Amino acid sequence: MHRLDEETLQLEKAIVQYALERVALQPPPLDGPKSEAELEALYGPNVTEDGIGGEEALRRFIEGYAPATLSSDHPRFLAFVPVAPTKAAVLFDMVVAASCISGTSWLEAAGAVHCENEALRWLADLAGMPASAGGTFVSGGSLANLSGLHAARQRMKERRDFQRPDRWRVLSSHEAHSSIASAASLMDLEVIYVPTGPDSKLTGENLAKVWSELSEEVRGSIVAVVATAGTTNAGLVDDLRSVSMFTRENDLWLHVDGAYGGAALASKERWRFEGIEFADSFVIDPHKWLFAPFDAAAILYREPKYAKHALTQEAAYLDDINKAEEWNPSSYGYHLSRRVRGLPFWFSLAVHGSRRYQEGIQSSIDLARATVAEIQRREYLELVMEPELSVVLFRRNGWDPDHYDRWSMQALRDGVGFVLPTEHHGEKVLRFCFVNPLTTLDDVRAILDSLAWEPRGR
Ligand SMILES: *Cc1c(COP(=O)(O)O)cnc(C)c1O
Repeated sequence: MHRLDEETLQLEKAIVQYALERVALQPPPLDGPKSEAELEALYGPNVTEDGIGGEEALRRFIEGYAPATLSSDHPRFLAFVPVAPTKAAVLFDMVVAASCISGTSWLEAAGAVHCENEALRWLADLAGMPASAGGTFVSGGSLANLSGLHAARQRMKERRDFQRPDRWRVLSSHEAHSSIASAASLMDLEVIYVPTGPDSKLTGENLAKVWSELSEEVRGSIVAVVATAGTTNAGLVDDLRSVSMFTRENDLWLHVDGAYGGAALASKERWRFEGIEFADSFVIDPHKWLFAPFDAAAILYREPKYAKHALTQEAAYLDDINKAEEWNPSSYGYHLSRRVRGLPFWFSLAVHGSRRYQEGIQSSIDLARATVAEIQRREYLELVMEPELSVVLFRRNGWDPDHYDRWSMQALRDGVGFVLPTEHHGEKVLRFCFVNPLTTLDDVRAILDSLAWEPRGR
């Protein structure tokens, strides 16, 4: 299995050829899901005692399973947060796979970690974090948020000489991503939800109001304030200027979740993020709006030592890496073994330079603005709110919630696009999320035109 014999060489050619053809597809097929029963019926079991052979396994994937797997980089994939990797990043991901690098420690991967750290520094500079800042790449914003909150709690533990309060807590708002509540639940943190105004933004003022009602004891149990720089649902940036003033005044850890929106720091909308330079921890996902393939999220800390104290695993077999002075990525996220998943992002940044990134990110913001005009031009549609970044929320006049779901599934089946409804203030509405520079205004128009459709039957 491990030798490169004649048969394996054939397979190598076929796999590389398929991979290169997939990279060259412009656009790739959007595709769509199938039921478990349909997929089961395709070929039956693939894993057998004798193996089915490379040619057959590859054929089944290409002909059977790949078409039941959406291409998140399709220009009309506008649901969730799509992914739009550069060709350089995708191709280099193949190099990462071929290179068998353990990204755990400096000892094992000094060269690769050096490059990852260069990419992390670029992100830290976007946010205006000081020279002390550092972190690592983890699989996603969820794990990055979990890691950030661990570091924040560690600081409070050390401050309180490891005297635990009745419960550790965080302050956040209902607009924060679901992974914040999930991380809090894993860590048994209580989330105190700060009520926000009609614009749904966390501000220093609404934090101060809640703060004034807390006892000294509860205040002392708060490990962090969690702000969002680009909410997933609506693309709104919390008022980081006043939030960071509040956290500095009260000596609180500021965790900024920019998993989706942080990329807009490289756009003309940077002014919306004023105050982010005071973040104690900052999350940004290159696999969202920074043109890297899945899965790469960055977690950065102003003072990385708290993460290191909280997250370094101790064991005799790790002594050699733990006693080293150099940067061990394993100490800055909840993981030990890790793929050097930041490398495709670093490679692409090195190839293209930051200006091309700025232009690519700005193009999605410009497209969101142009989409607003297209919505306003159609009497059956209505804008829900002016977009701040690249998420556009709008309603289809006269539709009930069920219409949205049926249109959405029909549009996917017809290959018109992949767009899902969401909720805004309790109302079902439609949501576009633009991150792909290859999405055109014509793509948007085609989808909006298809909304003139009236669903028939059930
Ligand atoms: C997507 C997202 C996350 C979660 O990131 P994953 O990479 O999906 O784990 C967290 N926060 C925000 C604001 C997000 O948009």
